Amino acid sequence: QSKAIGGRSFRFYAPAMNERQHRLLALESELHRALERKEFVLHYQPQASLRSGKVCGVEALLRWNHSERGLVAPNDFIPLLEETGLIDDVGLWVLRQACQDMRILAAEHGHAPRVAVNLSARQFSSQRLAEQVAGVLRDTGLPAEQLELEITEQMLISDLESSRATLESLRELGVTVAIDDFGTGYCSLAYLKRLPLHVLKVDRTFVSGLPDDGNDLAIVEAITLLAHKLDLQVVAEGVETAAQLETLRALGCDMVQGYYLSKPVPLSTLAGAATLTV
Ligand code: C2E
Ligand code: MG
Ligand code: MG
Ligand code: MG
Repeated sequence: QSKAIGGRSFRFYAPAMNERQHRLLALESELHRALERKEFVLHYQPQASLRSGKVCGVEALLRWNHSERGLVAPNDFIPLLEETGLIDDVGLWVLRQACQDMRILAAEHGHAPRVAVNLSARQFSSQRLAEQVAGVLRDTGLPAEQLELEITEQMLISDLESSRATLESLRELGVTVAIDDFGTGYCSLAYLKRLPLHVLKVDRTFVSGLPDDGNDLAIVEAITLLAHKLDLQVVAEGVETAAQLETLRALGCDMVQGYYLSKPVPLSTLAGAATLTV
């Protein structure tokens, strides 16, 4: 049924509101309420150092604990958070919660691993990022060197000059920065050399072919050599088998993260997972 408003007809728009769009709208309004209803939760996945064999860091990974749908994975709702701008509030919540959780862990167990927090493109391009990070560190009391921020190649190169300024101010704060999913984007090696970065996370699509796929072997070896020449540490993502882990060790990779060590776990079980060794 078309409705005329200001002389213009909705005739062409109304039928276009298909089922998918209705679901997206419903999802969006649920996401609006999710933060105040405390439905977001962080899980933590340990990262182990191949040198010491011990857990040295964790990555905070967002989940949405939906009343009917259960634990919803980030890929199913983060794009919508980005599109609607809700990611600004949720992203800040993630940062604060992750820092708070590490303080809780430290209070209960004497120490806590470094925590890596994923940033969205909107957060990274915000002029207020460094200020927000500084505020969260001050409020939670987490030492800056225990916080790492993960960005992707795309975020880095979309505006190189503002990326550089942001990275410089983060370095001044003392937090480290990791390039996530490395190898899947279009980051030129020249950029890596000129920016204050600390860690390359080799994307799991390259790890999954180890140890048999010769191309993956060559790619991971080359990334590791390059990273070390540039004074960057290398984390391999998505390590699922002992054979992959031993190959990464032989290639000189610094840290591993993946189901072989541990899946992402809630804070309540992280202390147990943090005693795992490789
Ligand atoms: P990511 O940052 O690359 O995180 C790694 C993803 O790989 C996680 O998926 C993790 O559960 C999964 N993973 C870890 N080990 C293995 C393994 O051995 N095998 C396989 N197959 N997968 C493994 P998850 O938790 O579903 O997160 C997906 C993506 O969502 C993340 O990819 C990240 O880009 C984004 N994300 C998660 N939390 C946040 C957040 O708080 N803020 C933002 N902006 N993005 C987030
Ligand atoms: Mg990540
Ligand atoms: Mg990744
Ligand atoms: Mg990813």
